Amino acid sequence: MGKITLTQVRKSFGEVDVIPGIDLTIDEGEFVVFVGPSGCGKSTLLRLIAGLEDTSGGVISIDGMDATDLPPAKRRLAMVFQSYALYPHMSVRKNIAFPLKMAGMDAAEQEKRVNHAARILNLGNYLDRRPGQLSGGQRQRVAIGRAIVREPAAFLFDEPLSNLDAALRVSMRQEISELHQTLKTTMIYVTHDQVEAMTMADKIVVLNAGRIEQVGSPMELYRNPANLFVAGFIGSPK
Ligand code: ADP
Ligand code: MG
Repeated sequence: MGKITLTQVRKSFGEVDVIPGIDLTIDEGEFVVFVGPSGCGKSTLLRLIAGLEDTSGGVISIDGMDATDLPPAKRRLAMVFQSYALYPHMSVRKNIAFPLKMAGMDAAEQEKRVNHAARILNLGNYLDRRPGQLSGGQRQRVAIGRAIVREPAAFLFDEPLSNLDAALRVSMRQEISELHQTLKTTMIYVTHDQVEAMTMADKIVVLNAGRIEQVGSPMELYRNPANLFVAGFIGSPK
């Protein structure tokens, strides 16, 4: 579960061809990082995969099924937002259970999944608090918990740590990596931070002006950057 294939996926906004045509395969269970400078199309590409933007061409397939025209809720992907998007008036428990409640899941199953996510994320003691009573890192974990309970085929993260201070960013990076090792679910992680890409990824996709410059493991990119852009961006000695 969690194999995602893009074939000549395009996106234009009006006259502007933001993504002229991308081919990419993301394998089951992989931790894939989209990295590149601000404005290169990382968020747009992630939103196309999530179904939050319509494609201008091409095919997106998820686990062998053509998902190009499926609404986000039918794609079995869970997006974790940078702004957390938590409901301030609801407890942590209710925030995490919210997508399950919306889907009409019975209360016992909701509770089982919330408790499971809380255990993984070390939120067990905070379930009755409200988001305003939590630290930034805990709030980020609640947002991740809300994704975990849906048991998605893949998690999509768009610069989830950019609101956090440097020390917290390092520990959350570690937590997300551990979460990947625990769940073994496909994760696509967008960042403009090379260090984040190099330390977290199984596979890095280097984007520049809506095109893929190179796809490879951190070591491959470091040892054998395809061009000067990749070398400069990754900080390779080439
Ligand atoms: P990144 O996430 O890498 O910073 P984005 O995917 O947000 O880049 O944006 C890529 C390009 O697409 C930018 O030039 C941006 O201005 C443009 N863009 C993104 N969303 C829209 C939109 N809804 N309408 C018009 N242009 C957009
Ligand atoms: Mg972005």
